[in-house]
Amino acid sequence: MHDAAALAEMLSSSEKAIALTGAGISTESGIPDFRSAGGTWEKHDPMEVSSMSVFMEDPARFWDFHRPRIDMLSDVDPNTGHEAIAELQRRELLGTLITQNIDRLHVKAGSSDVVEVHGSLSGGTCLRCHSAVTIEELTRRADAASDGVPRCEACEFQMKSNVIMFGEPLPADAINAAFEAAENADAMLVVGSSLAVAPVSHLPQAVLDNGGTLAILTEGDTPYDDLAQIRLRGGAGEELTAVLDQLDALS
Ligand code: NAD
Repeated sequence: MHDAAALAEMLSSSEKAIALTGAGISTESGIPDFRSAGGTWEKHDPMEVSSMSVFMEDPARFWDFHRPRIDMLSDVDPNTGHEAIAELQRRELLGTLITQNIDRLHVKAGSSDVVEVHGSLSGGTCLRCHSAVTIEELTRRADAASDGVPRCEACEFQMKSNVIMFGEPLPADAINAAFEAAENADAMLVVGSSLAVAPVSHLPQAVLDNGGTLAILTEGDTPYDDLAQIRLRGGAGEELTAVLDQLDALS
């Protein structure tokens, strides 16, 4: 059975279910996903504007793209999909929530145990001397600078947000926590991810290798479609709300 009732049943019968989300859970909040038509990445080459090489070689160009994007992403609210996942965690039907999103919407929706494997807009850091600032201080410095580049007060080096760029290593703590959660899980619910970006794309395999169950709720295709016991292709908000309704009916 590939419907909300089957997913509700899977979550109820699992002991240690975890979730993995991607850009698709935030499209209903108005944030384009990676591959959507007319999306951000159709207009900009991500390898260029979001790469460490541009940050190092042309920080003004890097910040010219990122400064308005931080405002756009800071001004967005969680949707019913984020809220449903937080509710599933409160009901202890989901544990660790691994996300590839940098938008902080899971945290805003009240989720706990959120592992942000691609970093997030939590703040800014100096890559030279590791001094850290809040996101508000980072944007204040960008706005005050004549070239739009926020700089470290201690060493003058250009600063970046805590979002991980192409060519930058993933935060070791987060990626280790994600693999540990997957290796200990007996079920994984994937929401809104094409599962195309490594190493996150290996996490579902870690769950399957342990004999765990895989459920995928994503509109587009993924490499795991034939391996998932439950495969839903509806909108994340609607489907996850239906799962909560099914759970209410069961209790
Ligand atoms: P992706 O764009 O590769 O895949 C998203 C998937 O979600 C697609 O299959 C799409 O069909 C599906 N989808 C879109 N809207 C949906 C909805 N309402 N309900 C269900 N499914 C829906 O995204 P990815 O796998 O997360 O990989 C993209 C990379 O880009 C990630 O590394 C992520 O860090 C980054 N990114 C983040 C954000 C964000 O923070 N919101 C936005 C864009 C990109």
